[in-house]
Amino acid sequence: MILAWVNDICETIQSFVGGMRTTAHYFVENLRDEGGATAVTRQYPEHAAEVIGDRSRGHLVNDADRCIVCHACDKACPVDCFAMDGERDGNNKMRASRFDIDLSKCIYCGLCVRACPTGSLSMTTGFQVDPREAELGRYLFRRSTPQLDMRLDAIEIERLRGLANTPREELAPADRDWLDEHVDPAGRHLIGIFGLGYFTPEQKAAADAEREAKKKAKDAAAAAAKAKAASPGGESAQRQGEPGR
Ligand code: SF4
Ligand code: SF4
Repeated sequence: MILAWVNDICETIQSFVGGMRTTAHYFVENLRDEGGATAVTRQYPEHAAEVIGDRSRGHLVNDADRCIVCHACDKACPVDCFAMDGERDGNNKMRASRFDIDLSKCIYCGLCVRACPTGSLSMTTGFQVDPREAELGRYLFRRSTPQLDMRLDAIEIERLRGLANTPREELAPADRDWLDEHVDPAGRHLIGIFGLGYFTPEQKAAADAEREAKKKAKDAAAAAAKAKAASPGGESAQRQGEPGR
């Protein structure tokens, strides 16, 4: 009993000393400003991280072309970040026509990435979430609550990206008004849009027509095969005339 107690105390002191040794190592390294990539504490944003682990959870992105709108991520998300719609393309395959991720709610738990069956959702190693950054401005927009339900087509998305990446003072008044209608600079929701507006109305009409034509051709081929089988001298008649029938 006493021996176990002494043993516990020794192990506690040992782990405490080990932890303090690591802390002291980084503390001195940082004091000398020679930590480089190994330093744990860095002054951000003056010194951004130089080494980011492969398993870090930075930006959540969706490769919309691979998304089948199965809603698995939606069901896995504990804080209800996703809003999505799907439409069928010419090959009858579901494609995302809208895919919003409300990053203001996201807790970067990664559950959606694990649930995604197609690998279209992933976390990148990027970690700076500032829509004013040119690179991020391509897909991060702040939107107010009514704007969240405003649907945009592909052309509008391109326009949004272009305008969002242009300094506000350089925008023409008409462009600035249009941008303010769709993006709220002081909005509460930081939205990552990736598949939003996958189809323009024209693309959707063409996809619907192509799918309908393929279905009609398939139905016609099936009807012709059935008629041929039922006709005198057809497959079924031939089978009946076979010896032993
Ligand atoms: S990472 Fe964000 S979007 Fe994905 S499940 Fe977690 S909270 Fe939801
Ligand atoms: S991102 Fe993945 S899990 Fe979410 S709807 Fe698309 S395919 Fe399904």
